This record gives sequence, structure tokens and C-alpha cells, in this order.
Amino acid sequence: MYDIIIIGAGPAGLTAAIYGLRAGKNVLVLESKAFGGQIINAEKVENYPGIAEISGAQLATNMYNQVKELGGDIKFEKAIGIEQNNETKIVKTDEGEYQTKAIILATGAENRKLGIPREDELIGKGVSYCATCDGHFYKDKDVVVVGGGSTALQDALYLSNLANKVYLVHRRDEFRGEHAYVEEIKKKTNVELVLKSNVVKLLGEPKLTAVIVANDAGTEREIPADGIFIAVGYVPQNQDFAKVIDLDEAGYIATSDGVHTSIPGIYVAGDARAKELKQLTTAVSDGSIAADTAVKEIK
Ligand code: NAP
Repeated sequence: MYDIIIIGAGPAGLTAAIYGLRAGKNVLVLESKAFGGQIINAEKVENYPGIAEISGAQLATNMYNQVKELGGDIKFEKAIGIEQNNETKIVKTDEGEYQTKAIILATGAENRKLGIPREDELIGKGVSYCATCDGHFYKDKDVVVVGGGSTALQDALYLSNLANKVYLVHRRDEFRGEHAYVEEIKKKTNVELVLKSNVVKLLGEPKLTAVIVANDAGTEREIPADGIFIAVGYVPQNQDFAKVIDLDEAGYIATSDGVHTSIPGIYVAGDARAKELKQLTTAVSDGSIAADTAVKEIK
């Protein structure tokens, strides 16, 4: 029996593990994909206090190593459900099941899809959700970036240094992403802003060759492009736990105080929970608070 099982090895989950382990608890971290969560896709992290600049992958690796060095158990299995059996909780995975006194849900969120025809079919054939992973395939080519948040802005900047031309397509004429990135983009001669527009069609067989965008007036424009980088936010992945804990309307885990779920002994940390500011710094803050709370409350 574990003291704490943490589901998700992103910054929130790994931080929770570090705090749980340093409090002398027996901790298992479960991860269905790669450790690091969303930050592994960040070419540069520049807003983590005390570290002026680090790659997201390096920061995630440092966190992972810290957990391993503290004796944490990390298994790459997908948690598919949780059950409550009096004081004991059970986490079911695609490979087995584990008993624990406490669970911290740090499942984060996944890339939101545009939901347009052929989006899935063309993944890896022009459609990507990760500029830093796939950008090098588009050296000297024309690409489209979709979105108006910091991820889309950063992706457009990153790709502008590789690609021939970048079209940044955003559905409004204001960006919700950081102002500094917008200013930097405006200085780039090979980035064209395509505002008040949505991507409606993907063309090309077997690979992407162009996208069709439609503006607010319904006027369509064909943009020749070998790649489209979709950066339109994230959606939570909590449905597997919905039978046991309460979710809000958008699928995020509802909390009364930012850490407790609707079930005693089950806590939440990071982007999986309903909250205003979803950042690396708030994820690690959540992770430490969730672990500290669990350590104090488990018997
Ligand atoms: P985000 O801030 O949620 O932005 C998503 C963008 O996609 C918005 O501009 C939104 O448009 C647009 N969008 C959503 N659904 C769409 C659809 N169906 N069709 C077209 N456009 C759609 O997501 P994010 O940029 O990935 O950022 C996530 C979080 O990480 C944010 O808190 C962000 O600040 C943070 N972040 C920080 C950094 C950093 O280095 N500091 C870097 C990346 C991300 P509207 O604006 O019209 O809603």
C-alpha cells in the first residue's frame, strides 16, 4: 500500500512527489505518456523565478531526476479509474491496480483540437500541436500557426526563425497571450497576421499543401502551407475519474479550497483543477500544497 499515489508526472505531480517524499511518505507517480506535461513542448521557459532561461524539457528532466533521487516510484501506466473503499483508495491502471491512502490528481490538460475535417488524418502529415517538436521538418517552408495565446505566439516566433513564412491565424484581432510576444512578432518580417479568421479546411493528399481560412464576413482565402501548428489551448482529461469526484461544467476538477476534491483523501493539483491562472509556477505551488495537505491528513 502506498501513502500517496500521484496521477500525472507534469510539474504539479512531480512537485507533489518531491514534497511527499521529503515528508517521508511512500509515493508512486503514474504517467500515461512522457513525464513533464505541457512544459516539455516549451523551447524556452523564461518565467520561472530564479532560472532566467531553461528549456522545458530540461526543467522537466531535472524534476523527474529529483523525484527518482528521493526514492520515488514512477510507473508509465495510464490510470483508468479510481475507487474508494473506506480509508483505502484504489487506482486502476491499464496494467494493474494499486492501493493507497491518498491520491493526488495532477492529470493536467491535453491539446485542444480545432475539430475541423481531416485534422486527425493529417497529424504527422502537416498537422502538429508542437512547434518545438516538429518545427525542424518545416525549414524554409511556409507554415500556419493557429491561436492567440502565449503558446501560439511563442510557436510563431520559434517557427519564424526556421520557416520561410509564418501565417498566424487568430479568430479575434486581440491576443490573449503575453504582450511582449506580440510586440516581438510585429517586428518579424516573415510573420503575417491573419486576424478575425478561422481555419475551415485542410487541403492536400497525402500531405497538407494548403489551408482555407474564412474571415468574420465569411470570405475564404487559400493559404499555401506545408504545416499547420494548432495552439488553441488545452482541455482537461478527467472523465475517467468523474464517477468518483465532482467536475465542473468544463471538465475541470472542482475544489472548495483549491486542493480538496469532493472526496476526502483525494486531492488535485495543477491544470486539472478549475482555476484562473494556469502556469508552471501555479502548478508547482498546487503540487506542494496538495502533498503537504495529504501528508497532514492521511493516517
Ligand atoms: P490559451 O491561453 O487558452 O489560448 C488559446 C487560444 O486559442 C486563444 O487565443 C483562443 O482564442 C484560441 N482558441 C481556442 N479555441 C479555439 C478554436 N476552436 N478555434 C480557434 N481559436 C481557438 O492557451 P495557450 O496559449 O496554450 O496557453 C495556456 C496557458 O499556458 C496560458 O495560461 C498561458 O499564459 C500559459 N503559457 C505561458 C507561456 C509562457 O512562457 N509564459 C507560454 C505558453 C503558454 P480567444 O483568445 O479568442 O479565446
